[in-house]
Amino acid sequence: MKIILMGGPGAGKGTQASPLIERFSIPHISTGDMFRAAIKNGTELGLKAKSFMDAGGLVPDEVTIGIVAERLAMPDCKAGFLLDGFPRTLAQGDALGQILDGLGMKLDGVINIEVDEAVLIPRLTGRRVCRKCGASYHMIFNKPEKEGVCGQCGGELYQRSDDTIETAKNRLNVYNQQTEPLIAFYEKQGLLKRINGDQTIDLVLADILKALD
Ligand SMILES: [Zn+2]
Repeated sequence: MKIILMGGPGAGKGTQASPLIERFSIPHISTGDMFRAAIKNGTELGLKAKSFMDAGGLVPDEVTIGIVAERLAMPDCKAGFLLDGFPRTLAQGDALGQILDGLGMKLDGVINIEVDEAVLIPRLTGRRVCRKCGASYHMIFNKPEKEGVCGQCGGELYQRSDDTIETAKNRLNVYNQQTEPLIAFYEKQGLLKRINGDQTIDLVLADILKALD
C-alpha cells in the first residue's frame, strides 16, 4: 500500500499514522522525523538541514526531495510506504511523481483528513499550561478537574501566547494556501480520498481503511 497522509494542524493526522503503518506493515516516512534523526546523527544531510533551520528558514525543496528520493529507493519501501509531511506543495507533488515514476511505483491513494475550521480552532487553542509545574491540559481532550487550576500542584493555568486564535488561524491559512493546489492535483488524478476528521479516532481510521479498500 503506497499512500500519502495529509491533514492540517489539529486534524489528527499524527494519530492515524501508527495504526495505518501497522495494518499494512509499511514504513512510516515522516520528513520531520527524518530531519530530526539526521540532525541528531550529524549526517551530511542533517548538517545541511540544520544550517537552514538555524538561519530561521525552511529546508529548501531540493534538500527535502533528495532525502525522500533516497528513502523511497530503500528495499523496505518496495511493498509500500506511508508518506507523512511530504509533499506539502504542488512543486513537491510534481517531484514526488517523478521519483515514483523512476522507481516504477504508483500511489494507491492520498488520504486527506478534513475538519471544519470551527472545530479546529478550539482544538488548536485548547491547551492550558500550569505556571507552577508546567503540567499541560487541554480544554477538549484533557480538561483540568477545576477550571483554571492545576490538578497536580494547584497552580494557575494559563494559555501560551502561541496557542491564541490568531496564531491558530494563521497556521491554518498558511497550510491551506500551500496545500490547496496539491489537493486539486491529486483529485484530478483520482487519488484523493476525503476523510471526515470530525469523528472519533476509531471512526476516522475505519473511514480511511474503507477508502483504501
Ligand atoms: Zn501544576
